[in-house]
Amino acid sequence: MLHTIKKIGVLTSGGDSPGMNAAIRSVVRACAFHDIKCIGIYRGYEGMIDGDFIEMDARSVKGIINKGGTILKSARSTEFRTIEGRTKAHEQLKKAEIDAFVVIGGDGSFTGAMIFNQEFDFPVMGIPGTIDNDIVGTSHTLGYDTALNTVVDAIDKIRDTASSHNRLFFIEVMGRDVGHIALNVGIAGGAEEILIPEEDLGLDRLVESLRRSKKSGKSSSIVVVAEGDKIGKSVFELKDYVDQNMEGYDVRVSVLGHMQRGGSPSCFDRVLASRMGVKAVESLITGKSNYMVGIKNDVMDLTPFDQAVKGKSKINMELLRVSDIMTI
Ligand code: ATP
Repeated sequence: MLHTIKKIGVLTSGGDSPGMNAAIRSVVRACAFHDIKCIGIYRGYEGMIDGDFIEMDARSVKGIINKGGTILKSARSTEFRTIEGRTKAHEQLKKAEIDAFVVIGGDGSFTGAMIFNQEFDFPVMGIPGTIDNDIVGTSHTLGYDTALNTVVDAIDKIRDTASSHNRLFFIEVMGRDVGHIALNVGIAGGAEEILIPEEDLGLDRLVESLRRSKKSGKSSSIVVVAEGDKIGKSVFELKDYVDQNMEGYDVRVSVLGHMQRGGSPSCFDRVLASRMGVKAVESLITGKSNYMVGIKNDVMDLTPFDQAVKGKSKINMELLRVSDIMTI
């Protein structure tokens, strides 16, 4: 059924990522440009169920393009996973006369939107906001580029200490399922080894490789470990193993954690967010629904939700080879 869109809701859902505010701003301003009302929905699907809404206009999103986090707050909602919860959310949207919504979040948020669309024939559009870059249908998710820069900056700083003290640092970065962050920051930060979920190097080969790099004259080492790496149970187990099996290194661990999700979005993420917001609103206006907005070869693109939530995006094998050559 073709819906006439007069009022669009916008929400941020799941884990936050840099660029979410820039995307909210873009959705709000694209609505204003097309003379459509825009409603901010607080706290993700939780706020949708509670009817926690605020009317937004072009001026209400001033001064946020450079801010990390999300002014609309984010949440994970257990109730939205139930038909009762989604029915309540639908009633709230109807009461507020909202005709469609744009959800900025990860694959879980898109799954929720897809189910909601099937149940209530309600127009929905998604913007991928996650630092992991693990979503199929876009070369870049919102926040990924900023997170890469944040992590490289941290690695550079840790490198100063590592080389001053002949230390070996294991630096754990985000990436539970996919090693995009680890692979890229490992190359950019000059890591001696990069451990990612896609490859299981094994503890012995890791030690062997570190020995080789020591023999070749390196006095300090950085090993970047994605949190989903399968070699050890944790980065601390890797440390213990190397401690026991290698001499002459003072081994340390640094888990970067949530700092990777914060901070002012990069220029790339601000521009990407602005493009994605416009694409999402204009797609809804032209009657499209149930898609995720993405970018491919610098062109905005739509991927059906059911494809976007299936599987995880793959790492670039060429980068793996480059990293092998760089760590010689
Ligand atoms: P992140 O990448 O940060 O994990 P995400 O969007 O994948 O972001 P989730 O916690 O998986 O984060 O999902 C966000 C919200 O989407 C959930 O709290 C829930 O309300 C809704 N959701 C997720 N999966 C479903 C589902 N199968 N059915 C209904 N709602 C869902």
